[in-house]
Amino acid sequence: NDVLLEVKNLKKYFPIRKGLMGKEIQYVKAVDNISFHIKKGETLGLVGESGCGKSTTGRTIIRLYDLTDGEVIFDGAEIGKMGQNHVKPFRKRMQMIFQDPYASLNSRMTVSDIIGEPLDIHGLASGKERQEIIYNLLQTVGLGKDHASRYPHEFSGGQRQRIGIARALAVEPDFIICDEPISALDVSIQAQVVNMLEDLQSEMGLTYLFIAHDLSMVKHISDRIGVMYLGKLVEVAESKELYNKPTHPYTKALLSAIPIPDPDVTKAKKRIILEGDVPSPINPPSGCRFRTRCRYAMPICAEEEPELKDIGGGHMCACHLNDK
Ligand code: SF4
Ligand code: MG
Repeated sequence: NDVLLEVKNLKKYFPIRKGLMGKEIQYVKAVDNISFHIKKGETLGLVGESGCGKSTTGRTIIRLYDLTDGEVIFDGAEIGKMGQNHVKPFRKRMQMIFQDPYASLNSRMTVSDIIGEPLDIHGLASGKERQEIIYNLLQTVGLGKDHASRYPHEFSGGQRQRIGIARALAVEPDFIICDEPISALDVSIQAQVVNMLEDLQSEMGLTYLFIAHDLSMVKHISDRIGVMYLGKLVEVAESKELYNKPTHPYTKALLSAIPIPDPDVTKAKKRIILEGDVPSPINPPSGCRFRTRCRYAMPICAEEEPELKDIGGGHMCACHLNDK
């Protein structure tokens, strides 16, 4: 079986109290019934505007949140509803790299202790062996031994992200969720970090879920890309296919927002401006959730939710236009 992770009908709702008395409870439908899989050694990019449920999807998979409904099957085992004790050995195989490498590193810990912490938590190494592993990890991410006794504030953003990556690698995971790992970095540093993640992937056989708000950030690293809108997966396709034949009106709008480095303006695609704000995930629009911003919306779009369907060769899209 070459599938490492399968997510089936995943839902994550967050309860919030409504009104001053707070007696009535409403739900933020952050992730609302999404399904996808990631093959071993593959990178699935996950994109969408902020608040569309990308990070919640990642955090629910890794069991930082309990899921509301659905299944998370990791290497053949259903871990979505497993108790924390049973899930621990699986958790060790899944790590996360965060957007803000500064906020996610404890400023009072040395780099050595930050990277060594997962080794301590999982009881994997101590003493000299632990120190050796830490030195090796520093080297793996392009930092030196002499960095081990320093503190996070002494490093640049790119270096701090390297420390975050070293920490994620410490337990020798199979699967890493990269949650906007380059969004906060200077453009000149972004490519370095992406290249390093790619090198590590081929050296260590890693599988990635790579989250970003912008399609240009996932283009290079992803084998396939999923596009999320307001808690739903609206399109999934191989990277090239998604760029060459974007089908969902939302994907088209996202893609047209990327500046094309082509001096020949006649070749440049017309920019589609997305009007209006993303509706509230508490009361999402009926039918297709994108309909309030979609210039192709038809009456059926308000009545029926479009299903995510294969429109050919594994290219999945959820839009009623495909049924015409
Ligand atoms: Fe637009 Fe309708 Fe397609 Fe939704 S289903 S993206 S509203 S055309
Ligand atoms: Mg996020």
